[in-house]
Amino acid sequence: MSRFWSDIVRDLSPYVPGEQPSSANLIKLNTNENPYPPSPEALAVLGGDVGATLRLYPDPESVALKDAVAQTHGLDRSNVFVGNGSDEVLALAFMTFFAGKGALQFPDITYSFYPVYSRLFGVAIDRVPLTDDFRVEVDSYGTGTGGIILPNPNAPTGIALPRDEIERLLKAVPDRLLLVDEAYVDFGCESAVELIPRYENLLVVQTLSKSHSLAGLRVGFALGQPELIAGLDRVKNSFNSYPVDRIAERVAIAALLDEAYFRTCCDKIVATREWTAAQLSELGFEVLPSRANFIFAHHPAISAIRLFEQLRERNILVRHFEQKRIDRHLRITIGTDAEMQQLTAVLSELVGER
Ligand code: PMP
Repeated sequence: MSRFWSDIVRDLSPYVPGEQPSSANLIKLNTNENPYPPSPEALAVLGGDVGATLRLYPDPESVALKDAVAQTHGLDRSNVFVGNGSDEVLALAFMTFFAGKGALQFPDITYSFYPVYSRLFGVAIDRVPLTDDFRVEVDSYGTGTGGIILPNPNAPTGIALPRDEIERLLKAVPDRLLLVDEAYVDFGCESAVELIPRYENLLVVQTLSKSHSLAGLRVGFALGQPELIAGLDRVKNSFNSYPVDRIAERVAIAALLDEAYFRTCCDKIVATREWTAAQLSELGFEVLPSRANFIFAHHPAISAIRLFEQLRERNILVRHFEQKRIDRHLRITIGTDAEMQQLTAVLSELVGER
């Protein structure tokens, strides 16, 4: 604390990301990264001439990247906004659409960055409880005057809403913006992107961090009708003209256009997730039905924090949240088959020792 801090800074409670340990011999299942390397096409960019171009600023409008995003989603460039990871896109969206409006609604159990942005931008919050079985009930979002933000699938539960539920909500709240955070959509969840031409109150945010194995590159994007995108551009151009650097733009384009590789990795992760969920169920865990690249599970007879620690002692890192309603659960990112076999072998031992 310094007397030079502004009042806003004094009152912040910043987001705490999952640990990024320096030890390489950990099985790292704590931050929902992809276990497979980025597309070879994307890696090839790094060996090319991109370095020599770095003396120049990047394109402030990221036109080539927007075109690649538009092409892969069947939309127009005017429907696309790109930024430095979807966290930045979300922050700009909070400033553009939620600041100065009524209370923002989001689930009581959800991505913990939403309350942080709300505090930073002075947005009032209305947390809407998930059902007892951790589902989003869209009818609970029908009243209110501010915006709505829903991750689909939700994090950290992994539970997805079908597209027609999202559409039902869009129809019920035509004067409120619904932001659907699709960070994990590519692992078997229905995307709301195809609703964009029909709903002016829909903004979809996605990222290359998970399904395209590019968490380290920092590229995310928003999709919506051109007026929404124009609002994001106004805020971005009042904050940072060049959020996507030259390397990020070129690598991201190559990754987006290598759809075959992307689909192969996603399919492998989905298959490994289903295998892991079945194994954990056999060990007595209750596993929520996940459409993401992680599973959320708890064992009725063993404390989650104890399991977290025991796994850590055996060099396996998962995520535990010290938060009401979910402090008995562990969130486990889906790794390679070999990593998940090791995890289930260790869990089997720990459950057996009990
Ligand atoms: N949304 C959700 C729900 C997430 O879990 C994450 C990852 N922490 C993000 C957005 C942000 O991802 P990134 O900034 O890497 O695009």
